[in-house]
Formats: sequence, structure tokens, C-alpha cells
Amino acid sequence: MAMMLSLDAVAALVDHLRNDGRKVIGPVLRNATISLDEIDGVDDLPAGWTEHQDGGSYRLERLDRPELFGHATPALPWKSWLYPPRTMLMRANRDNGSVTIEKPTPGAEPFAFFGIRSCDVHALDILDRVFLDPADPTYTARREKLFVVAATCARPGGTCFCVSMGTGPAPSIGYDIALTELWAGDRHEFLARAATDRGRALLGRLEGRAPTEADLAAADHLVGNATQNMGRQLDPTHPTAAAERYEHPQWEAVARRCLACANCTMVCPTCFCSTTEDTTDLSGAVSERWRRWDSCFALDFSFLAGAPVRSSTKSRYRQWLLHKLVTWHDQFGTSGCVGCGRCITWCPVGIDLTAEMTALALDPGGPS
Ligand code: SF4
Ligand code: SF4
Repeated sequence: MAMMLSLDAVAALVDHLRNDGRKVIGPVLRNATISLDEIDGVDDLPAGWTEHQDGGSYRLERLDRPELFGHATPALPWKSWLYPPRTMLMRANRDNGSVTIEKPTPGAEPFAFFGIRSCDVHALDILDRVFLDPADPTYTARREKLFVVAATCARPGGTCFCVSMGTGPAPSIGYDIALTELWAGDRHEFLARAATDRGRALLGRLEGRAPTEADLAAADHLVGNATQNMGRQLDPTHPTAAAERYEHPQWEAVARRCLACANCTMVCPTCFCSTTEDTTDLSGAVSERWRRWDSCFALDFSFLAGAPVRSSTKSRYRQWLLHKLVTWHDQFGTSGCVGCGRCITWCPVGIDLTAEMTALALDPGGPS
């Protein structure tokens, strides 16, 4: 089912999602970035803004027309709403010598992701393989109720390489409704395609018109342009070649630049490592156990039998990259990378995994 929607109809789409009891998460301007947060309507979207992204650099820029989706990937990853940075696992209360245990009910609030890009939808599909079986209660409860409104990318960022990873720029899986923002002179419309029964039901509540051949061709043209304008690319043969060069000096070279700050894993939409920590109040009457995001870049992440297994930055960077791009296939049947480019943009020293892969795969000089 496909329809052409006006801006007012897209506003009504957000209103329907909210009136149906969903918390709608979408792109917003925050802290001089296009990030993510709850939106009350289309007026909260970053209309007329885009961004320049490169290794270790990000800058907002103005567009000459009020595009709602004129940007690439938002700074925050969408996983934050399905797999929150901190989740309470249990609370123990001591009272008069007896202890009671409370287990929080996983988030019952239904979310809608509005304007999510194809690479990030693919990232949800990857996280599903981690968290749905065996079922993580918080993720499963939120994921089952999630409504996905995807948006086609018209302006890939300077660090995007979804085409190399087969994840974009047009939404292809995992959405209820996909929007493609189209302009014909001053005419501003959206091609909306529904892929599920609930997507079709929601579109059926909106006013619109049938798309013409010209509308469909304009949408295809936009996708073709975005495909040609990826900021980066990754040769699919490079990760395997790099994995065979385990002691190549390039691993040392990247480790000398890497701060082991873990930014790359925090912004990555598929990284899922966590740790648990216990806290008590000052009286000792209440104790809580929390799960919080952790990173394979943290020294104590591999602490085992009295010492970290991966004590050098070189070993931790190598673990992250080869897991993400190579051994993830063995573990989950897919790459762990969707080509969103966030780890390149938000690395404070601009380390670029596509460049590292090329150096490792193509430099014949170093030992394997
Ligand atoms: S690669 Fe960059 S973002 Fe990742 S840990 Fe190293 S310095 Fe930090
Ligand atoms: S490894 Fe980097 S480019 Fe790949 S999905 Fe993670 S953040 Fe995006």
C-alpha cells in the first residue's frame, strides 16, 4: 500500500501514534547535534537542518528548504530506548530481619520510532538476535510493541557506508511505514509505503492521494543519488583479510592513536555489552542491582582470574573490530556493522574503521 501524504498528513500520523498511547521518539536538535528524543509533533523535528560529518568531526548546517529528514544518522543510537543505558534488575528491601525482593516490571510503555534510517532498522534486526532468544525481559517487552516509521536517506553523511553493508539507503526490512520525502518545486510531499497490517491500518486513517508514476520515479531517483553519494565504503573482502593479519603493525599503529575511551561502542547501534553493579543505601536497608552499558574497550571488561585478558589497547581495538566485522557472522549469522558511521564521527581522534580495514587488508608489508 502506497500513498502520497502532505506535511499536514504526516503531522496527523504522529498525532495518531501519540493518541494511540505511544511515546514517539524522533530526530531533534539537541546540544548542537541532530540527536533523538521524545517528540510531541512534527514541529519538534529538525526541519531545515542537516549536518557535516567526518572522522572526529560534526557540524550542523542550514538547508535552503525545510526538509524534515535532510540529515543522516542522529548522534544517539535508537537502541537507547529498547536497551536503556541503565536498567534496574532487582531491589532487595530489609525490614525487621526479613528480606523481600522486588523485580521491576519491564517497560510497558509502547514506543514508535519516527524517521529511523534503514541502517538503524537493520541494527534493530541485529539486536533482536542478541536479546530476543533467550529473551531479555526489558528489550522483548519494548520491541514487541514497537511501531517503526522509517525514512529514506536523501543526504547520506560523510561517514556513512550503508551501501557497502547492504543496509540502505532505502528502508527494506523491519518497518511498518516507510516515508520518502519528495520535493517538486515548492510542493513538499511524502511517499508513504506500508509493509504491515498495522501500518496499512494507520495509513488508512490518513488523507492522501495515490502516487503517480512520476512520484515513484522521483523516489527511485532520490535513492539512486544517495547510493552514489556515500561518504565512505568498505570492501566486503577486507575484514576477512584483516583477520588473517593478527600481528600486523597496523594494529599497533591504531592503538597508539586510540584513547580506549569507548565512545565508538556507546554510539554504535549494535554494541550490546553490559556489566552489573550493586548499590546499597547508607542504612543498608535497600540494595539494588543495575545493568549498565559497558564496553570491550574498558580494561576491566575482560578481567578474569585476577587480571584482564586484553590488557593492551591494541588487543581491545582488535577484539572490537574483528568481532564486529568478522566473528559476529559466526555468532549471529550477520555482520555486527550496519555502516551508520557513528563510530567514525564520534571518535575523538577520528579513527575510521573503513580506513583501518583497508590498511590491514591491502598493506603487504607487515607480518601476518
Ligand atoms: S577507536 Fe576512537 S572512540 Fe573508540 S575507543 Fe579508540 S579513541 Fe575512543
Ligand atoms: S561499527 Fe561503527 S559504522 Fe558499524 S554499526 Fe557500529 S557505529 Fe555504525
